[in-house]
Amino acid sequence: MKNHFVTGVDLGGTKIYTAVADLKGRILAETKTPTEAGKGIDFVLDKIVATVKQVTEKAGLSEIPAYLGIGAPGPLDPQRGFIYQAPNLGWQDVPLKFLLEEALHVSVTVGNDANLAALGEFCFGDYKGASNLIYITISTGIGCGLILNGELYQGADYSAGEIGHLAVEPDGLLCSCGNRGCLETIASGTAIARFARELVQQGKGTGILKAAGDLSEGITAEAVSRAAAAGDQEALGILDKTGRALGLGLSYIVNLLNPSLILLGGGAMKAGPPLWQAMNVELRRRVIKSNRNKLRILPAALGDRSGLLGAVACALQASRL
Ligand SMILES: [Zn+2]
Repeated sequence: MKNHFVTGVDLGGTKIYTAVADLKGRILAETKTPTEAGKGIDFVLDKIVATVKQVTEKAGLSEIPAYLGIGAPGPLDPQRGFIYQAPNLGWQDVPLKFLLEEALHVSVTVGNDANLAALGEFCFGDYKGASNLIYITISTGIGCGLILNGELYQGADYSAGEIGHLAVEPDGLLCSCGNRGCLETIASGTAIARFARELVQQGKGTGILKAAGDLSEGITAEAVSRAAAAGDQEALGILDKTGRALGLGLSYIVNLLNPSLILLGGGAMKAGPPLWQAMNVELRRRVIKSNRNKLRILPAALGDRSGLLGAVACALQASRL
C-alpha cells in the first residue's frame, strides 16, 4: 500500500505545510503548522518528521509513504538535496535530503520552493499542461519557477528564475544580493512596507498609519493594501510604483521567453487592482506585440497550495523513476 501514496512538504520561513496524496495528486490529509525557525534546525527537522507522521495517521495509512517531496527556500542543489543557504530559515549548508531520509527511512526529493510551485501549477492547477508557464511569487522576496517546453527549467546550477534580482533601477537601492536596484528592492512585500514607513517617518502617510492601527510596527504590505482599498492616495501611489516595477521586470522575461501563461502567487498579490492594473499597463507597454498575443496573466490557481502540490508532484516523479 505504501507505494500508492506520496508525501509532500512545503517548508517555508513561517509555516510547514504537509500532505499525503494519492498517485493522481489528490490530497488525503494535510496539516499546516508554524515553522518556528528561530528555535533551530533540529527543532524544525523534528517538526517536519512529526507532521509527516501526523498526516500519515490522518490519512489512515499504517506506514509512511515510500516517497517524499519537499520544497525548501534556496539556493539549493536538488540532486544532492542540499540547501546552501536559506536566510528566512537561518540555515546554511544543510543536507536536508540526508537528514530526512535518516529520520524517516523513505526516499526524499528536495526542490526549490518557487520551482516546485511552478511544477504544482503545471501538474495540478487549472491550466495544467500549459507548456510555457511562469510562476511568480511575491511575498517577503520575489521568487520564480519556469516551465519551458513542458519541463521545469532549473539552469546549469539550479539557480534559474531569479527574477527578484533583475535590475529595474540601475543605481537604485542596495539589495541583499549586493547589487543595486533589483526588482526585490521595489516590488516585494518588504519593499512596500519600507516605502510606507519612510512616508510615515517624514510625517506623511496618515492613512497608512491609521490602517496599521496607529502602530509603526503595524506598517506592513497588508496595511498599505487596506489603506489603498479605502482610497488613500499615498498607499495607492506606493502600489502604483510597485506594480510598474513588477510590469517592467516581467516584461524582460516575457520578451525573452514568450510564455503563454504567467501565474502570480504570494501575499503581495492580495494587494488587488491598484497593483495589478499598474503592472499590466507597464508590462503591455514594454512587451513586443508578438509576445503579447497569447499571454495571459492570472492569479495562481492553487493559491497557497501551489508549493505543496509541487512537492507532491516531485515525489510522484521520483516514484516513477
Ligand atoms: Zn538583488
